[in-house]
Amino acid sequence: MSTTWHILGAGSLGTLWATRLARAGVPVRLILRDQARLASYASGEGLTLVEQGIARTYRVTGETPDSPEPIHRLLVACKAYDAPGAVAQLQHRLGPDAELILLQNGLGSQDAVAAQLPQARCIFASSTEGAFRDGDWRVVFAGHGYTWLGDAARPTAPLWLEDLQAAAIPHEWSTDILTRLWRKLALNCAINPLTVLYQCRNGGLQAHQCEVATLCAELTELLEWCGQPAAALDLHGEVQRVIQATAANYSSMYQDVANARRTEISYLLGYACQAAARHRRVLPHLQQVQARLVELLVARRLPRD
Ligand code: NAP
Repeated sequence: MSTTWHILGAGSLGTLWATRLARAGVPVRLILRDQARLASYASGEGLTLVEQGIARTYRVTGETPDSPEPIHRLLVACKAYDAPGAVAQLQHRLGPDAELILLQNGLGSQDAVAAQLPQARCIFASSTEGAFRDGDWRVVFAGHGYTWLGDAARPTAPLWLEDLQAAAIPHEWSTDILTRLWRKLALNCAINPLTVLYQCRNGGLQAHQCEVATLCAELTELLEWCGQPAAALDLHGEVQRVIQATAANYSSMYQDVANARRTEISYLLGYACQAAARHRRVLPHLQQVQARLVELLVARRLPRD
């Protein structure tokens, strides 16, 4: 019997992983916020995954952070701003052999979690899969993609990747996971904030090419200062290709703001601006975009961080 996967956060990605693992017969338990969420979950049939229009429900056992069972493998599927606090609640259940898989976008939250648990192995992930909730305990698999997993401190791949194979979760072990996360952060910083400021789909940025190019030049410099030259290679070219290929899409940050949800700005643009400050450098355009974005968030009564 393989080790149980505890999944922290029954949101879009947490449910996408939990249902596919459960479907493959891998033992899974879902950790919900509190008794109220557990009661709501327990009153239903389980977790529903909608794939190509077909909905299937899987019975996955739910529990709260207070459950006594020790945790050996934890998939952290909260938003970046919730991850350190949510993991801290489970600290007493995590043994020295615990492994955590951190699915958060951006950078900063992974290091915060790892610093809380110096003995545990923290595996960072970067995913291009897409999912959204269309109801409580129900998720739509919206975009097939790939998940890269890696551990900058220990490059050996864990044996449990075979669970992901069995669950048909497309993945690859990466020996340069930080480069991947930095690259994704830079792409996000060049596109997402501008789509919020101009209230447009990704393709709408074709009308703001100069601004995109200036941001890419600053981000390229930043990646080089931060020791990430591989993540900087042809950044502007890839940003242009992404804008074209996803012209009809609304960025995740645009959707968060449109739905009055907190953004992950502190782990994306905020992290980039802080990294520049740590190197005592000024990136005027990036900082200006951050200031404009914060102003917009405050005007909409959304958290500024
Ligand atoms: P989400 O749908 O908002 O799910 C987050 C879940 O975490 C929610 O169910 C929330 O509970 C739960 N949570 C928060 N604090 C908790 C706590 N203390 N204890 C237990 N559960 C807690 O978010 P998501 O879209 O899956 O995103 C997760 C991360 O993956 C983000 O960093 C995101 O950027 C990244 N990502 C997402 C996608 C995607 O397509 N969705 C793709 C790539 C990367 P409640 O339900 O009670 O609020």
